[in-house]
Parts: sequence; C-alpha cells; structure tokens
Amino acid sequence: MSAVEYSPGETRIGFVGLGIMGEPMARNLMAAGFDVTVHNRSREAVDRLVTAGAKPAGSPAAAAAAADVVIVMLPDAADVRAVVLGENGVATALREGGLLIDMSTISAGVTRELAETLERQGVRMLDAPVSGGQQGAVDAALTIMVGGREPDFERARPILSMLGAKVTLIGECGAGQVAKACNQVIVAGTIQAVAEALTLARHSGVDPEHVRDALLGGLAGSKILEVHGRRMLDDTFEPGFKTRLHHKDLGIALEAATEAGVPLSTTALVRQFLGSLIATGDGDADHAALARVVERLSGSDEARESR
Ligand code: NAP
Repeated sequence: MSAVEYSPGETRIGFVGLGIMGEPMARNLMAAGFDVTVHNRSREAVDRLVTAGAKPAGSPAAAAAAADVVIVMLPDAADVRAVVLGENGVATALREGGLLIDMSTISAGVTRELAETLERQGVRMLDAPVSGGQQGAVDAALTIMVGGREPDFERARPILSMLGAKVTLIGECGAGQVAKACNQVIVAGTIQAVAEALTLARHSGVDPEHVRDALLGGLAGSKILEVHGRRMLDDTFEPGFKTRLHHKDLGIALEAATEAGVPLSTTALVRQFLGSLIATGDGDADHAALARVVERLSGSDEARESR
C-alpha cells in the first residue's frame, strides 16, 4: 500500500459527465465517503447529485480546482478533449501532482496524446474504460480496464474499487482503451449472433422464447443471450447502451485494427448495421436493436410468402 493512496474522507474528487454511467458512479463515490464535486453540460443530474450531498461546479475547471483527482465519463474523444484541454477545461485548474482518470471509451491514440500534454504540467493520467453497463455502474460492479503507470494505479485503486468489481491494470497508457476495444468487438459480434439466431427461430415457425430458454443452458448460453436476447424478444430498446456509442466504439476498434494490421471482418459488418440503425432514427436505442436490422433484412411476411 502506498502512503499517498487516495482514500475516502481525505480525497476530493471532481466528476465531469453525469449521464447514464457517470451519475450512478458519482453516487457510489459519495456513498463511499469521498468528497465529490460534480459538473455536467446539462443541469438536471447536477441538481440530483447536489440534493444527495455533492458540491456543484459550473465548469470542468471549477470541478478540478476543488479536487485531487478528476474523473471524466464522457461520450467521445472530442468531448474528452474539450473538457480536459478546452477553455475552462480540467487542465487549466488541476494542480501539479493531481490525477485525471478518464473512464470514457475513446481511442488509445487520443489517450496517449492527452497523457503527454498533462504530463508536461505535472498531472498524471490513467485511462480506465469500463464494461458492465448501467446496471454495473449502479451496483458498483463494473469491469474496469486500466492503462497507466503502476504507482498511479495503486494510488487510484481505492477509488476504482468503489466503482467496479474487477479492476485490472492492463498495461501502459492506452492499454485500458485497447482492452475496451477488444471487449466491444466481442459484445457486438455476440449481439449480432443472438439477433440472427432469434430471428431464424421466429421465421422458421419456432418460438424464439423457447429457443432462448433452451440455449441459455448450453454452450451458446451467455449474458448477452440472457439480457439482450430478452430485450429483442420484448422489442424494448431503452438504453442501456446507445447504438451510436457502440458504433463509435467499433470505429475505435477498426482504427486500432488498421494500425495493427488485423482484419476485423465481423466487426466491420456489424458497424455497418449499427450505422443503419442510426440512419433510421434508432441511434439512441439500445444496441440490442441490431435485431431490427436482421428483421428488416429478412423481409416482410408477404414477401416471404410469395417466395
Ligand atoms: P451519456 O448517457 O450520453 O452521458 C454522457 C454525459 O456527458 C451526459 O450527461 C452529457 O451531458 C455529458 N457531457 C457531454 N459533453 C460534455 C461536456 N462538454 N461537458 C460536460 N458534460 C458533458 O453516455 P454514457 O452512456 O454515460 O457513456 C459515457 C461513456 O461511457 C462513453 O464513452 C461510453 O462509450 C462509455 N460506456 C457506456 C456504457 C453504457 O452502458 N452506457 C457502458 C460502458 C461504457 P448532457 O446531459 O448535456 O448530454
């Protein structure tokens, strides 16, 4: 254990980005006893957290000025860049020796750029993207994949362990984002496979409900068949994880794959289907809405009958 480990009761945390994931994560840090100052672009989540005991900040800089550690949980690289390096950004106020933990999913390349910029002013950075979704954030049961230096990771462990059930240092700066890209490749391919299987069952005249139940006990059983399969059967796609964010994540994976010279053919195809959902107005639907694409590609009942 390090003497300078961040601990509840002593460490002040600035938290920027209070969406589906950020708001419950900030709540868990408050429940653990950390002193939390919050900022978000829109105001509602800030007000809810202030009612629960957080301090409000009018800008990322104001959140950072009151903090030893700043956590950001934002949609994309452009948002993280703006919040960290922009006008009234975190970098203008986070003191030397401070730590930025970026828990958003962005590319490893942008992560390394940000870390180098911050390092020049004596601020350290960890990339710590997560898996586990909204429920994992609420239950503090996230899987957290960390990139950065080991001493920074050890100092931050008491914070991260209040947010996740499995916290792993993967490697150097950017390695957490590479692990997250790998995660999103597996999740996308599996959702697509579940969508295809359940659509196949339905159009073969077999109840997909029974197929899902049976398969959950075998080799094809998975959390995605359970959770996303349920959403597909109910045709309810409240996020969850927004289609547009998974489309963004697969873009990150494909960029990394191009650099590494690895062909990700399934990932490229599923990204096209996610893009089609965005184009038809389902960008904010849960990514299980991939079932809608498979359904559309399967044609109408009339068309099938006239085959
Ligand atoms: P989200 O619900 O869209 O929340 C993002 C939040 O960031 C919003 O509250 C937004 O404010 C705020 N924001 C955006 N730009 C800002 C700025 N310039 N200054 C201050 N606040 C700003 O997204 P999310 O689902 O929580 O996802 C956040 C990150 O976690 C993404 O990178 C995503 O890929 C990743 N992730 C999500 C899940 C999931 O299941 N949702 C799971 C794992 C990882 P507004 O209210 O004004 O829009």
